Order: sequence, then C-alpha cells, then structure tokens
Amino acid sequence: MVAPAVALAAASAASRRSWRRLFRWRAPGSRAPCRPVCTARGLPGGNEYDLLVIGGGSGGLACAKEAADFGKKVAIMDYVVPSPRGTSWGLGGTCVNVGCIPKKLMHQAALLGGALEDAHHYGWDVAPSAPHNWQQMATAVQNHIKSLNWGHRVQLQERNVKYFNIHGSFVDDHTVRGFTKAGKETLVTADHIVLATGGRPRYPEDVEGAKEYGITSDDLFWLKKSPGKTLVVGASYVSLECAGFLTGFGLDTTVMMRSIPLRGFDQQMALLVTDYMESHGTKFLKYCTMRKLEKFEDQRLQVTWHNHEVGREETGVFDTVMWAVGRVPETRHLNLEKVGVTLHPDSQKILVSASEATSVAHIYAIGDITESSQHLRCTSYCHCGVSCGSHSRPGVTSQGGW
Ligand SMILES: Cc1cc2nc3c(=O)[nH]c(=O)nc-3n(C[C@H](O)[C@H](O)[C@H](O)COP(=O)(O)OP(=O)(O)OC[C@H]3O[C@@H](n4cnc5c(N)ncnc54)[C@H](O)[C@@H]3O)c2cc1C
Repeated sequence: MVAPAVALAAASAASRRSWRRLFRWRAPGSRAPCRPVCTARGLPGGNEYDLLVIGGGSGGLACAKEAADFGKKVAIMDYVVPSPRGTSWGLGGTCVNVGCIPKKLMHQAALLGGALEDAHHYGWDVAPSAPHNWQQMATAVQNHIKSLNWGHRVQLQERNVKYFNIHGSFVDDHTVRGFTKAGKETLVTADHIVLATGGRPRYPEDVEGAKEYGITSDDLFWLKKSPGKTLVVGASYVSLECAGFLTGFGLDTTVMMRSIPLRGFDQQMALLVTDYMESHGTKFLKYCTMRKLEKFEDQRLQVTWHNHEVGREETGVFDTVMWAVGRVPETRHLNLEKVGVTLHPDSQKILVSASEATSVAHIYAIGDITESSQHLRCTSYCHCGVSCGSHSRPGVTSQGGW
C-alpha cells in the first residue's frame, strides 16, 4: 500500500499548493492598483470578510475550510431551494445529500442483495432471496446524511467560518445579499468571493406533466416509500447508476434512452455497462423520446413516448418516472450580469481560467458551476492570475469569443 499512500500525500500537497495559489492574498503595495482606489482590502473602508463562499457543497466547503486554516476571516452561504416535489436537505451540497453518498450507500445495499443470493453457494447458511425493505434502508441512509450535515456545520464552527443559511445574489462586486427562510435580509461584504453553487437536475420543457408527476435524483434518495415500478429517462451516469441499484432491489426498472448511453464516455465501455445491466434485469427502451405523463386516480403514471425505431407512439404504466436528462448550472439567481462575470454562451456555466479566476478580479468559481475557458478560443488572455483592472478581459467579447 506504499504507492497509494505516496500518491495521496502528493495529491494532498499539490492540492494545498493550488489553494495557496488561489488565495495568494494581496499585500498593500505589492501589486499595481487594480481599481481606481484600491486599499489593502480592495475597497475603501474594507469589507467584513476576507473571503465569502457562495455554495456549501464539496467545492465551497473545502474552499472555506482551507481559507480559514490559512487564518482568513471566512463566511459561507448555502441554501437549498426545494425541488418541485418539495424535497430539500441540509449543508453539504449535491454529493452529500443527493449524489455520491446516498448513491453509493444504495448501490451497496443492492450489492448485498446479490451477495446474499450467491452466499449459499459458498457455504453460508442464509436464505437466498430475502425481500428488500426500502423504508428501512432509506431511513438509515437519510440518518447518515443528516449526521454528515451536522459534521460539516461543526467543522465550520471549529474554524470560525460564519455560516449563513441564505440564498445569495450579488448587489455589487463585493456585496452579496440573501434572505433567510423567514425573509430576513442579510448583506455580506468580502474582499474575495468564490462561487460554488453547483447545479440541479434538468426537467424537459416540452413534455406534458414532466414537472407535476416526474421526480429527479434530488427526490429519489429522500423517498419515504419504495418508488416501485420505475422508468428512468436519460442515459447519463446518474440514470444508469440509479437504474442499477433499483434493479438490484428487485424493482421492475426501465431506462429510456434517446440515442447512445453515457455520451462523452468510452463507447466500448458504455456498451459493456448497458449489456451487463440488461443481463441483470434492467430493461431498455432504445431510440425513444418522451411525449407525456398522465396520472391515474390510483396514483400510477401513464407514460406516452415515441419509438423512433418503429416510428410510432407507445404507452406504458409506471409507479415512478425519474428524469435524468442532465443538470442545469445554478447561475441564474446570482445576479452575475450586475458584476460582469462571464458565462459560457451555451452551457451558462461560469468561464474560469486554469487558476479558477472568473472574468472579474477577486471573484473565483469552482466545481460543477465552472467551464474551463481553455476550451474556448483565446485571443488575448490575461494571465495576471488575481487582478488587473476592472477585468473585462481584453479579447473577451460578450458572446464569449475567446
Ligand atoms: C446522483 C449523483 C451521483 C453522483 N455521484 C458522484 C460520484 O460517485 N463521484 C463524484 O465525484 N461525483 C459524483 N456526483 C457529482 C458530485 O455530486 C458533484 O460533482 C459535486 O457535488 C459538485 O460540487 P459543487 O461544490 O460544485 O456543487 P454542489 O455540491 O452542488 O453544491 C452547491 C451548493 O450551493 C447551494 N447554492 C446554489 N445556489 C446558491 C445561492 N445562490 N446561495 C446559496 N447557496 C446556493 C446549493 O443548494 C448547494 O448546496 C454525483 C452527482 C449526482 C447528481
């Protein structure tokens, strides 16, 4: 195990180095003034915090904690807008609450079912197929998540990071306003601001009943009762992972895909994945696109889709329909136009340099909300790293033509 240990140590050192680069704080006079008036704090009169992080997910929490460890005065804002179904959760973002963590726990639950079936062949005196109890598993998973939410709050407190449970948006380039659940307004000012607001699942715009009757991965992990016979729409990794563990629980599970599975991944591997899933009981509706969702009185859903292979409309009845058709970056509510942070014209993600700098000096972005500007054509890119004037970068057009 020496090699992994060395790799881990190296990765950790590299990560600390890159954080140091990100937080190479400006000493007074150490750099040409970046604005007409530029104090040690970047603003006349100074700001309340050295750093404000918007978004308390994997990226935002790591950033806030590291900056506090460097002795900086740090605040973090995190607020979860409930899903259309009304599901919400605590501090920790997607991975902890509705992503990697519950996904892996449910995957493990499904694998245990498979192991139970195999066990008696290996001499274990256990019943081969016991029914799976969703409620029991979900309660355990949800309690574990709540303990992680609490753990993150404690870790912030231990580092004196101020936590605001508010939905932030820019008032000006150093001031962010948010409202608590009870509607109380809070203004926070900071020298540096890191945007780490992640993304949320996308709902299709053109499918009748999509939002009213469908759920997404934001809801699945918090369901109190089993989703039953499920149609998962999309062929993303989120779709296939969820369909995989649902099948593992013995639920009748179908994946509907428009074209190829796992677009952007190695297609030889992607087909191995779908073949394996099919051989383990997941059904696939290939070359199909959704038309509408209707609800029967008994709460089951009638689904209509177009099968492009045979050229006709088809229908089916399911207990649950889950959309896994991509994610939307959470840039819409930040009032970024006000401060001039440049977005990718198509993805609407924030364009960042290799050092996670946005188009505005002192504002950075990390995690799922970002798109590397290196993929765009660059005519004249400023490499100052932190600040250079008002930072509407030379060569950057409003169309994002870098
Ligand atoms: C089902 C699923 C499974 C996944 N599995 C894996 C996996 O196995 N491995 C892996 O590496 N990745 C996995 N991912 C991806 C991973 O979860 C994300 O890449 C990661 O969580 C992104 O972190 P982030 O900090 O960028 O954003 P997030 O974790 O999404 O955090 C953003 C936070 O900001 C908050 N926020 C948004 N706007 C505002 C605002 N205006 N004011 C205040 N707060 C705001 C949000 O509510 C959220 O809490 C999975 C994702 C999903 C959906």
